Amino acid sequence: MAGLGIGLIGTGYMGKCHALAWNSVASVFGDVERPRLITLAEVNADLAATKAQELGFSTSTGHWQDLLENPAIDVISVTTPNAFHAEMAIAALEAGKHVWCEKPMAPALADAVRMRDATAGTGKVAAMGYNYIQNPMIRRIKQLIDDGAIGAVNHVRVEMDEDFMADPSQLFYWKSEASSGYGALDDFAVHPLSLLFTLFGHVDAVVADMGKPYATRPSKDGGTREVENHDIASVLMRLEGNISAVLMANRSAWGRKGRIALQIFGSAGSILFDQERMNEFEIYRTGEAGSEQGFARVLAAPAHRPYDHFIPAPGHGLGFNDLKIIECRELISAINGDKAHLIDFEQGLRIERSVHAMARSFAEQRWVEVSV
Ligand code: NAD
Repeated sequence: MAGLGIGLIGTGYMGKCHALAWNSVASVFGDVERPRLITLAEVNADLAATKAQELGFSTSTGHWQDLLENPAIDVISVTTPNAFHAEMAIAALEAGKHVWCEKPMAPALADAVRMRDATAGTGKVAAMGYNYIQNPMIRRIKQLIDDGAIGAVNHVRVEMDEDFMADPSQLFYWKSEASSGYGALDDFAVHPLSLLFTLFGHVDAVVADMGKPYATRPSKDGGTREVENHDIASVLMRLEGNISAVLMANRSAWGRKGRIALQIFGSAGSILFDQERMNEFEIYRTGEAGSEQGFARVLAAPAHRPYDHFIPAPGHGLGFNDLKIIECRELISAINGDKAHLIDFEQGLRIERSVHAMARSFAEQRWVEVSV
């Protein structure tokens, strides 16, 4: 059987990441047919042609709609800015394609609902790009929690910080437009939420505060533009199982480069993880009491599957793009009808509902229940 036919829309940060994953998945895993990279779509034909050449696609187009008509394309990767996700993902599903869409689903909750609804009755896989849940360290942490290694979890803190918007002189671009969403909430908080949903279940209630460090940013034309969303969010949450949780997100946090830090506290120990050191975690178990009691640092190793598919040696480490390759392998499993570790549009919508509850909480200055 021929490998899946792939269409890709967008070739920025995430477009390249998806393309690398489609190019590598068969070599890394060995047990799937090599995908056929059919057509790459970009904003204009020239850019599309250049990127298709670089990323290994046979054909290219300046009109993403061309992907819909092509029967050789089975899956469409949507890696465009947030405002385009709903239109592109829904059109792809209606054209009978599987969809791999970058997070978040859409700035408007109604559009996220339409995306989820568009999957009904299609028999197609619609998965979100929540790569951090694919880290073998996160999978091991989940096993440890489920096995009761740190007892009953009662408190979780998660922080996501980067500094790509920390410089006030940085030019205004789409991430500061209201049309791309609330800012730190749907750009950032969705990632920690994907981890919380994977490790503990859904969010029951939230109370949120948001911050806008810079009211305006310089624009390309030499003037200034008003910043339309918030770069900082601080949220108290009540999770399923009555777990007390704190989520903080800041995309203007100087010095932080890719921090997604989890602190998980249980009745018999604690677990610490930070994506900036994504190949390790720390665990503290009360059973090992004594004068040497402390955190043990666990390094990623072949025993932490699917690390073994990348490197036979422990402690050498995976990278960010490898998480996308694992996510791609999971997507292929789902398309083959096998069990897959993914956030689909149904679960994605629960994450969106949590984010919108946070925004409402901030607007109304009160706790808000999250409907699931
Ligand atoms: P980007 O600006 O680097 O790339 C976006 C690309 O889409 C550009 O190449 C642009 O030319 C193209 N594009 C825009 N409109 C288009 C259209 N109509 N047709 C075809 N191409 C079009 O943005 P990015 O940082 O790659 O972000 C893209 C998406 O990925 C966003 O939704 C973002 O939230 C998400 N993202 C996810 C992660 C992750 O870890 N999963 C990380 C970064 C970004």
